[in-house]
Amino acid sequence: MKKGVKRMSFVITSACIHEQAGICVDVCPVDCIVFGDDQFLIDPNRCIDCGACETVCPVEAIYFEEEVPAKESASILKAKEYFGVA
Ligand code: SF4
Repeated sequence: MKKGVKRMSFVITSACIHEQAGICVDVCPVDCIVFGDDQFLIDPNRCIDCGACETVCPVEAIYFEEEVPAKESASILKAKEYFGVA
């Protein structure tokens, strides 16, 4: 991937803050989910958009970036800031 090119990835929204089940970490084939300050976060640089995490989340906190509900849009920025993505 060229530097400076933005790409979409899956995003974990705020429902994770109170759940923190972490099953997503176990199923991610590229180990790109880490625990941030108060919830699990997906590294947008490494996510391969396989969708495995989305299907196992018990609180349906995970969405493809384009499908994140408007009220959860801060979650997109939260992950990008954590991983230093512009
Ligand atoms: Fe990992 Fe796939 Fe989820 Fe991306 S979509 S975080 S690669 S399990």
